[in-house]
Amino acid sequence: MTDSTTHLATPYRTHTCGALRDVDAGANARLSGWVHRRRDHGQLIFVDLRDRHGITQVVIDATDAPEAHAIASRARSEFVVTVSGTVARRLPGTENAKLPTGAIELRATDVVILNEAKTPPFYINDPDASIDETLRLRYRYLDIRREAMQRRLLLRSRLVQAIREVHHASGFIEVETPNLIKSTPEGARDFIVPSRLQPGAVYALPQSPQQLKQLLMVAGVDRYFQIARCFRDEDLRGDRQPEFTQLDLEMSFVDEPTVMAFIERMVLEVSRAVVPDRPIQSDPFPVYTFDDVMERYGSDKPDLRFGMELVDLAPELSGPGGAPASGFRVFDEALATGGRVKAIVAPGLGDVPRSRIDELTETAKRFGAKGLAYLAVGADGSIKSPIAKFLGDALVDRLVRRSGANPGDLVLILADAAGVTHDVLGRLRAELGTSLRLADPAVLAYAWVHRFPMYQWDVEGGRWDATHNPFSGVVAEDEALLETLSGDPSRPSPGDPAGRARALQYDLVLNGWELGGGSIRIWRRDLLERSFALQGYTIDRMRNMFGAILDAFEYGAPPHGGIALGIDRWAALLSHQVNIREVMAFPKTQSGSDPMLDAPSEPDANQYAELGLRFVGVPGKPQP
Ligand code: ASP
Repeated sequence: MTDSTTHLATPYRTHTCGALRDVDAGANARLSGWVHRRRDHGQLIFVDLRDRHGITQVVIDATDAPEAHAIASRARSEFVVTVSGTVARRLPGTENAKLPTGAIELRATDVVILNEAKTPPFYINDPDASIDETLRLRYRYLDIRREAMQRRLLLRSRLVQAIREVHHASGFIEVETPNLIKSTPEGARDFIVPSRLQPGAVYALPQSPQQLKQLLMVAGVDRYFQIARCFRDEDLRGDRQPEFTQLDLEMSFVDEPTVMAFIERMVLEVSRAVVPDRPIQSDPFPVYTFDDVMERYGSDKPDLRFGMELVDLAPELSGPGGAPASGFRVFDEALATGGRVKAIVAPGLGDVPRSRIDELTETAKRFGAKGLAYLAVGADGSIKSPIAKFLGDALVDRLVRRSGANPGDLVLILADAAGVTHDVLGRLRAELGTSLRLADPAVLAYAWVHRFPMYQWDVEGGRWDATHNPFSGVVAEDEALLETLSGDPSRPSPGDPAGRARALQYDLVLNGWELGGGSIRIWRRDLLERSFALQGYTIDRMRNMFGAILDAFEYGAPPHGGIALGIDRWAALLSHQVNIREVMAFPKTQSGSDPMLDAPSEPDANQYAELGLRFVGVPGKPQP
């Protein structure tokens, strides 16, 4: 045997379908697998036999093996068969360099059909077939037979293996935390599970193991990790599923640089092990503050594989006294009211037809802008712009120069409140990055973003919402800011100094996706209570929801911090996918259902009865 698959030999096979090479010529072999393709040439039948490990060509000759030939002529695509025979070098000129087994074929003496198969609803042997996704999910067991899916599941398995290896070698222990717990908020709705033994009470499925991993730190576990399943009931998107997997970890006696340094080393080692061919843009990873990335990229998860930074045009737009005086009312008003006027440059779009610019304007409006101004720089250097008549030629020239646009480029300008300007330009930047293919698809651009605001004001709730994790600690010099104007954390108001406090929160970004985030936690009960009070929790609710952790903090909690990275997102990005469903064996559709298992489905009447439940209908809809 020529490879490391000896241990895969069973009574059904001496080798896998990916194992045989020319040095095996002359040996006897038995293979089992699925009929990938069958070509019937009368006297000779060729079968490409497939299993997870590869494909081997089998030849059945009517003269040499009449019985085997008769059986093989009944075989159809996806039949499961066992073939015994002799390994032979293929005739010169008939080798297949694309197949690792392409130098040989198995000349069959014996064929057994183990199981028949109906004609599959889609081609399993055509890598280019475009198949309706619901059909793929309904027949996922057939979809996973396709090579691309097998490759992605294998990559995911190697990813998890590499993660485990680095953690074990770095003093972490793997601990499983339960799935039937109490609500752990991560900003989504809980999935709840009614208890039969305690009628009327429910468990919540974890949105993350956050509280449990912090309790493990109080328990002295020191370094914990888990490949943890998390459940969040929210609307689905390409990078979201109701249940997903996180690499979840927590470390004791650490500060922010310690956690970031470990994660960075782990991520580099894992990436190099799993996708050695993919270049890593920066090592060490660049570190941005939240204010920095918003200012420069308009996003807290920028794709750094291309530039197109946001350019502040304000310095060119003020008159001698510093007051806005561009001549264009929209710009001047934005600046006068504390807003921003910023631009991005779309390379090569300077000469596109008006309709393309209208499309971009529509996109910007969809993202929340009131409008989009532009300066189109033709290849000949001439500038077209509906606002040139307000600005005058000299200012238009200065703006083009400031933006860094070259002949043939399009300058897109937004003037609005800072948040809107950044958000819309950030999203346009991402969209243009994709449509203009500005990013090198091979490159992995990891980056850190930290120093997020601790809270944002919730107008409706009249409280400060944690921008990330309600347990996040505060930057040391900002600790004194966790105050309210009233002096009472349970009576917050929008002008509180707490609004300026920065969290010890760090996010890891990869190619425009948030790969994950974590923080150094608050580990003192008094500070945690103050933070929860700012977040609108009454003492009773605090005790009800977080009683365990508040109590535990009175028994010697060490300083600790951690992070969670999305395994599905990581696997998707490492295998060039834009949808995490492509790296999950059995994902849900956009509407949260599993068309294969037909879930969710109505429970049996007796299941309701046992739980003391009755379906009373959806609010606002007629009773069932
Ligand atoms: N529990 C957080 C999350 O799921 C991660 C962390 O802060 O460790 O996003």
